[in-house]
Amino acid sequence: MIQYYADLTRLEMEHLDRANTVVMIPLGATEQHGSQAPLGTDALIAGAMPEYIKAELEKADPGYPMLIFPVIPVGFSVEHLRFCGSISFKPDTYYHMLYDITASLAKHGFRKLVFLVCHGGNRPVVDTVARQARADFDILPFVLSSGAFFHPDVQATISEGNTFDFHGGEMETSMAMAIRPSAVKLELSETGYKTAYAGKKAIRFSGEHALTWMGGDFTTSDGRPIGIGGDPSGATAEKGRIILEISARELVPALLEIRDW
Ligand SMILES: [Zn+2]
Repeated sequence: MIQYYADLTRLEMEHLDRANTVVMIPLGATEQHGSQAPLGTDALIAGAMPEYIKAELEKADPGYPMLIFPVIPVGFSVEHLRFCGSISFKPDTYYHMLYDITASLAKHGFRKLVFLVCHGGNRPVVDTVARQARADFDILPFVLSSGAFFHPDVQATISEGNTFDFHGGEMETSMAMAIRPSAVKLELSETGYKTAYAGKKAIRFSGEHALTWMGGDFTTSDGRPIGIGGDPSGATAEKGRIILEISARELVPALLEIRDW
């Protein structure tokens, strides 16, 4: 059964088979997503993904033992701090906050944790927490990235001509529209380009050989820092539902392996 962690009473928690229950911790962020999408885009996605996951997972295993932990709405978003409204933990603050949650869960006998990363910038800190917690508590902290952005059916949602869709672009804006349509101001959409990396062949904005990107590296065509990549103007709620559904479905094989680990 998939339930929300915070809905359980203490007594229900005491009676739960905690050693075999997966605790999924959705990790969002509160950071700028351009002029058109809300600051809470990643936190909205972190809140919605577990519902989509629940729907997909229950098709495979109606009795899947999982508790969904409350969304952590702030993450490591230093790359966006120059833009108004963005909030970031420092890496050590974020690390210790997640570590302490993990320690508490381990103390109560949970062994299987899933950090659901809904903001890519969180990933390095989360990987570090997961590895240290695995060593310290002899538990299994899995790290799953949300968002099957390279799945062909997700790529197919991107409008023609929108050749580089990244942070705050069409895909993310579509997801925000599927979840909280009133928070998206699509008419204010502007396209963001990875200007600082234009013409560079060996160094990329992430990956093997990289200069870790900052929001200001991404600008409008006239050079104004915008901190998003892509043209969000073609976003729709229907595209967002498709992306959320496929992203959830793509997590099912991993979650089934976690159940049996
Ligand atoms: Zn985002």
